[in-house]
Amino acid sequence: MKSQKSKWTVLSLMTAVLAVSIALASRPLFEAQPGDLASFSAVSPIDAHVHLYKDDPAFDSLLRRLNLRILDICVIDDRDPYAKGLEPQRSDVLKVVHRTGGRAVLCTTFSPYRFEEPGFAQSTIRQLDADFATGAIAVKIYKVMGMEMKSKAGKYVMPDDPAFEPIYKDIAAHDRTVVAHIAEPDSCWQPPNPASPDYDYYKQNPQEYAYAHPEWPSKSAILAARDHMVAENPKLRVVGAHLGSMEADVNQIAQRFDHYPNFAVDTAARIPYFMLQQRDKVRAFLIKYQDRILYATDLVVMPKDDTEKALAEWNTTYERDWKFFATDQKVEYMGHSYQGLALPKPVLHKIFHDNAVHWLRGIMGKS
Ligand SMILES: [Zn+2]
Repeated sequence: MKSQKSKWTVLSLMTAVLAVSIALASRPLFEAQPGDLASFSAVSPIDAHVHLYKDDPAFDSLLRRLNLRILDICVIDDRDPYAKGLEPQRSDVLKVVHRTGGRAVLCTTFSPYRFEEPGFAQSTIRQLDADFATGAIAVKIYKVMGMEMKSKAGKYVMPDDPAFEPIYKDIAAHDRTVVAHIAEPDSCWQPPNPASPDYDYYKQNPQEYAYAHPEWPSKSAILAARDHMVAENPKLRVVGAHLGSMEADVNQIAQRFDHYPNFAVDTAARIPYFMLQQRDKVRAFLIKYQDRILYATDLVVMPKDDTEKALAEWNTTYERDWKFFATDQKVEYMGHSYQGLALPKPVLHKIFHDNAVHWLRGIMGKS
């Protein structure tokens, strides 16, 4: 009897241990505490839109600690002294790429300004092909198309200008991706409004404020040109940066997704616009189009920026964003609080990882 009893005790103890282990193992992966980035790291997150130009081992440590990969994007804008040419940005990004053992991946760009010069397409293609050989997996095109550049005849040059067509064909032929920052938020064409998420940006960058430049093309004309370029290049993957500049209404994005299977969007710098729309609508949109949205921030670190300050900003950004997408807790933004979306786990996995792997082929390293 005695031995029988102890046998049962051992058995029940084992059962209890087993039950506890099962309970622990099946604990929800995203049981995120406020500020808890462990569950963020568990999805092997990818930030599809970053401008990290500072080579500092602290960023390598951060990427490793968060188990994070980033697309590190170059951008040419002749109104910005650092961004006037591809150099020194490309070299700065390549240093980050090497420093991080490939956790940062290069998104190159090209100067569109010489588009009317003879041999423009050929020399651009030569440059891009060299960048692809160095590891670039994507090519950024920028809002100067449609909002700044003019032809010799005085016409604003749009992203679907025939001058760029051979370049798009080359990018598609190399199975690389275009990251298209075309147009701007609606607020760029509207009178100053302190309640707008972009109010400070246009105050600081009046040269980019379309409202002050009524001679610029309308936003709908620019987006129509972008859509035309996407339609003309069905073999080219195009990721519309900043929610494809359709930030105010997810229905506008849905409409493009339905029309163009080669089009996706990143969330860079536009997550607050999800907060400003109706929660149920945004949640249903993200679930329906779960294969087409790439998590991204638009975090910027210039070579001379303070590392500590940048690290703090990166941590707060990932904490806030993860809390918003993964939990139903309240998130603060511009003095208001918004309830998190509590997206289903498989959807989170796609938005924070799988979609970048698919749309930015090569983001995980040589394959
Ligand atoms: Zn950006």
